Amino acid sequence: MPASRTPARASKSKATSRARRRTQRSTSSSPTKDGAWVGFDLGGTKMLTVVYDDEFQPLARIRKRTKSHEGAKFGLERIIGMIGAALGEAEITPDRVKGVGIGCPGPLDVKRGVILDAPNLGWQQVPIRAVLGKAIGAPVVVANDVDSGVYGEYRFGAAKNARCVLGVFPGTGIGGGMVYEGRIFSGATRTCVEVGHIQVMPGGPLCGCGHHGCLEAVASRLAVAAAAAQAAQRGQAPNLLEAAGTDLAKIRSGVLAAAIEAGDVVIERIVRDAATHIGTAVAGVVHLIAPDVVVLGGGLVEAMPKLYVETVTRAAQARVLPAYAGTFRVVAAALDDDATALGAAAWARENVAEQAEAS
Ligand SMILES: [Zn+2]
Repeated sequence: MPASRTPARASKSKATSRARRRTQRSTSSSPTKDGAWVGFDLGGTKMLTVVYDDEFQPLARIRKRTKSHEGAKFGLERIIGMIGAALGEAEITPDRVKGVGIGCPGPLDVKRGVILDAPNLGWQQVPIRAVLGKAIGAPVVVANDVDSGVYGEYRFGAAKNARCVLGVFPGTGIGGGMVYEGRIFSGATRTCVEVGHIQVMPGGPLCGCGHHGCLEAVASRLAVAAAAAQAAQRGQAPNLLEAAGTDLAKIRSGVLAAAIEAGDVVIERIVRDAATHIGTAVAGVVHLIAPDVVVLGGGLVEAMPKLYVETVTRAAQARVLPAYAGTFRVVAAALDDDATALGAAAWARENVAEQAEAS
């Protein structure tokens, strides 16, 4: 849904980045001589790697399906192959790579660089940092994928210079992340800010984690699409029914947005209810950590930024103690699909020295 994208990083689209690459190569003072950073977004269904120059301008990007069902060993080989191919495309020799940042589904042990348990990948106890570091010959910094995206927004996007940023990204599940005084907020031994598993509806629908009424179980894209499919089936959403039927796989964020636009008021109510639950969870987090910026991202928010920002703001502001009302802004993410790769690469630059000292 390109039309719904925020324009801030529109220049990072494939076509323009290719054009930019051509321009860079045609000039004699290529900034790539200084070195490069690699960002990697390891998702449950797709993987993306982007090679950046020292100013974090993209030089090359490669996207592939994850094929996680083929196992971690095969997956790591694919990751190494993709990074090698992207470096080749960017004409960067491995000795010029200063660091690799990889955003992985969590929870992770970032100190040891180990994926502990990633249900979306089916991978457990994978020492990703050690394997990649050895193969690529450059320092590798591991971070949670949502944390990486929130860090990207903090450095380059909608939450620039905020003291405390909470990110909430409703997608297939609901990811959460936090940047506090310039650092990704983390537990002593593992990543955290699992906003999706805050309980907002005791006794509510079953969550993928095995408990009932988690935010993810009532407000993820999957939960919204399921409720929308029921409404279509009942004849309450004629526009949605015509566009996508009742097939969950076809009820994507853009289709929901179009149905609301066309007048399916029940669909609008379903989406607003989901956003209200997100606001309830945000209010809980505000009481704990008082963020100054709350960034909302993911496909649903991209497709309906105004609806989400308005509804989450209203629900969260209404639920916080008076002293916290008006102390935080809710904004839509400004970066595109590259946010995690970009944030991971920038986070790697902040951490390679420290990590080398520690080991
Ligand atoms: Zn849960």
